[in-house]
Amino acid sequence: MSVLLAHMRETYVIGAGPAGLASAIELSKAGEKFTVVEKADIPGGLAKTYSFDEDGLVFRTDNGPHRFFSKNPYLYEFIGELVGERWIEVKRQTRQHIAGKFYDYPIKPVQALANIGPTKAVRMIADYCVAQARYGLMKKPIRNFEDHVVAHFGRTLAEFNMINYTEKIWGVKASTIHSDWATQRIKGLSVGFLIKAAMEGAIGSFRTAPLRTLVDSFYYPEYGTGLIYETIAKKLADGGHPVRCGTYPIKIRHDGKRITGITLKAGDRTEETAPDQIIESIPPKEFLKLLDPVPPEAVMAAAERMRYRDQTYLFITLDKERVTHDQWIYFPEKQIPFGRISEMKNFSQKMSPPGKTSLFIEFFCFEGDAIWNAPKEYLLGLAMGHLERLGFCRQDEVRESYLIRQKKVYPIYDTEYRSYLDPVKEYLDRFENLHYIGRPGRFRYNNQDHSLEMGIMAARSVIEGKRHDLERIGGEEEYFEKGTHGKA
Ligand SMILES: Cc1cc2nc3c(=O)[nH]c(=O)nc-3n(C[C@H](O)[C@H](O)[C@H](O)COP(=O)(O)OP(=O)(O)OC[C@H]3O[C@@H](n4cnc5c(N)ncnc54)[C@H](O)[C@@H]3O)c2cc1C
Repeated sequence: MSVLLAHMRETYVIGAGPAGLASAIELSKAGEKFTVVEKADIPGGLAKTYSFDEDGLVFRTDNGPHRFFSKNPYLYEFIGELVGERWIEVKRQTRQHIAGKFYDYPIKPVQALANIGPTKAVRMIADYCVAQARYGLMKKPIRNFEDHVVAHFGRTLAEFNMINYTEKIWGVKASTIHSDWATQRIKGLSVGFLIKAAMEGAIGSFRTAPLRTLVDSFYYPEYGTGLIYETIAKKLADGGHPVRCGTYPIKIRHDGKRITGITLKAGDRTEETAPDQIIESIPPKEFLKLLDPVPPEAVMAAAERMRYRDQTYLFITLDKERVTHDQWIYFPEKQIPFGRISEMKNFSQKMSPPGKTSLFIEFFCFEGDAIWNAPKEYLLGLAMGHLERLGFCRQDEVRESYLIRQKKVYPIYDTEYRSYLDPVKEYLDRFENLHYIGRPGRFRYNNQDHSLEMGIMAARSVIEGKRHDLERIGGEEEYFEKGTHGKA
């Protein structure tokens, strides 16, 4: 008697960052057959948490501090189910350091005015009025990020922190950055909103809807944001689907409409697979190079124009109870070589051993430049000069320092980016069994929430056999900017 075995659909999830792991857990909940592969040694992508054991004293740090914020109540449930009580609410305490002074963020009006001084404050107001006249009444076009912030805040306020910090992050002039960057990150933020929010902070109860940039508390897993992704990886392993780390595609075959086969490298071995569905978060520039046959020249040329900003981090552990009460402090000015410092203990006490603390110091760079190539000792010397001067810590309090380099952290939205991103996406969209997701996959400046949502929706596309529009996620103005920070 012949037994007809029904073909069970198989999905390959390539990349185990938040997006890929969210896909995998959703597939597992639906009882789908799937495999997860990840190029790195551990899952979690940019949202992983590192642990450093110093003779039994364990210090933890995220790959840059991660607060969780979303308008989507389902995501709070999704994470709540994974980490439960280990998800704690943290009252936000952050500052900026500009021209030798510290500014609380969100802004405290009395402190801000005292720090800025009357002359500069008057100049800010005058410039704001000029900008309103130029961009509002005279309809001067907004062609780039610089125009956007000058139009909304006036030149003096825009230069005070936004233009400086943006140029530090991206390493290019603010006038060469697309205004979409402002639309994504600070839409809804205006002088009026800042004044309202500041007044609310000062006197209590305006009930201003919180902006993503201004929410005053957030959720954080007590052992670092990576706890979410370690928990997913463990659940997957317990269910018989361990994340196969150190495994990645070296060739992806297709017939112009579907992906037909993948050659994977796993350690010294190669293996062949032909999954029915592929969910991947590989940067498009790399993904296209894996395709066989090679995509048209125009698509490859468009992908070549995609650029990223990279980062080098210095994590220092300290024989000191605490440095500040801040979770993080921004340093927008160029003369300070790092962009932000974070004290992980102020996210959760469990990030440092009792009586000790740590600082995570972020440098923005391009792969191969002087900061990227700098040895740890050089960066430590550079950082300590400023940290000592600011009274944060002394060299003799430093226990240990760790250097971490991270490629392709920020997709660069230059003023031309749509002209090369659109043809790449148009080409990828032809593959009916391909779902490209996440911050790297979609060349999108996603936070965790949008990557999680993309992962979940890609898995649902597979499960339901109908494509959900992943481009929409994070694109809606309201969705993107305003939200709740409470658990659902
Ligand atoms: C310094 C910093 C601070 C941040 N702060 C916050 C914050 O406060 N709040 C917040 O919500 N978000 C924050 N983020 C953003 C957050 O880290 C990202 O949104 C999230 O990690 C994106 O998840 P992802 O899965 O889309 O991409 P990634 O995290 O980049 O994961 C992609 C995964 O795919 C793997 N991969 C790539 N190529 C291949 C390949 N060829 N084969 C196999 N695997 C591959 C990678 O190794 C990686 O594991 C921050 C990020 C940084 C860097």
